[in-house]
Amino acid sequence: MEDVAERRGARLNFDTSVSEVPYPEASVAKRLEIIRPALEADLVINVPKLKTHVYTTFSGAVKNLFGLVPGYTKAGYHAKFNNLIYFSKMLLDIFNFVRPALNVMDGVVALEGDGPGWHGHPRKVGVVMASLDGLALDVAACRLVGIHPERVPTLEIAREQGLVDFEGIEIKGCQEKFVGFKMPSVCRDPAGYVQSGFFRSFVHPVLISMLTARPVPIEDRCSGCGTCLSACPRGAIEVRGGVAVVDHDLCIRCYCCHELCPYAAIDLRTSWLGRLLRRTGVMGRWSRGEISQ
Ligand code: SF4
Ligand code: SF4
Repeated sequence: MEDVAERRGARLNFDTSVSEVPYPEASVAKRLEIIRPALEADLVINVPKLKTHVYTTFSGAVKNLFGLVPGYTKAGYHAKFNNLIYFSKMLLDIFNFVRPALNVMDGVVALEGDGPGWHGHPRKVGVVMASLDGLALDVAACRLVGIHPERVPTLEIAREQGLVDFEGIEIKGCQEKFVGFKMPSVCRDPAGYVQSGFFRSFVHPVLISMLTARPVPIEDRCSGCGTCLSACPRGAIEVRGGVAVVDHDLCIRCYCCHELCPYAAIDLRTSWLGRLLRRTGVMGRWSRGEISQ
């Protein structure tokens, strides 16, 4: 593989050195830590995969650029932007800072259900989509698989900020809709809604905890490898007797452990109250996991 790439004059980049750059125009991330090759590049071509995401609902052009924050530095971002709304604003800041020249989304085999890690299910969608505008591309991709863009926090916030017009997007080429794409199943959306400063100021943390899905290690599958420990931004996990244990008081429900566990040994469980509110939809428009329309 390396030989083929070399012969064609292409080189994989293994340089993950980082620079900290000021970004005063940002809505929340006024300083960014980004890998240097991206900062020094003449232009950036963004190649996301079409995926569902248990935390952000959808992972496309905007979310993909979080990959420019290297390795475990990402955990620090999760700790700092520790609810879904702040986190989504931070993702948008990175996207706006980098502003890729071209975005090409691979939806040949997409990921549905509880993505983006091992709990998601590969699904053949059979498309490659491209746009100069990554936000428009994400909206078009969501519509293709039946995810309402207003239920994707990065897109809804971008719309509120006047960065994208959901109705003004022209799609060229195949307009066929892909039916029956599975949304993430967990009740995670209230993390943004419920964990707003206003809500937190008068609702007991135990109730907040009941409204969001909790990461629960599955003893039979856990190898005690410790990958989740390194990924956890709050140090909320330890391995005891060869099995991961989560301190739910420390946990901020970022689901990095669920995404990165190589044995799919972290389950996300929602309390009866969370399930009830998700079913009735009273937790807001992002709260229902379901098959897309
Ligand atoms: S990453 Fe998965 S297998 Fe490894 S310790 Fe954590 S839960 Fe267990
Ligand atoms: S335990 Fe998992 S969900 Fe909770 S903060 Fe750590 S990585 Fe995030």
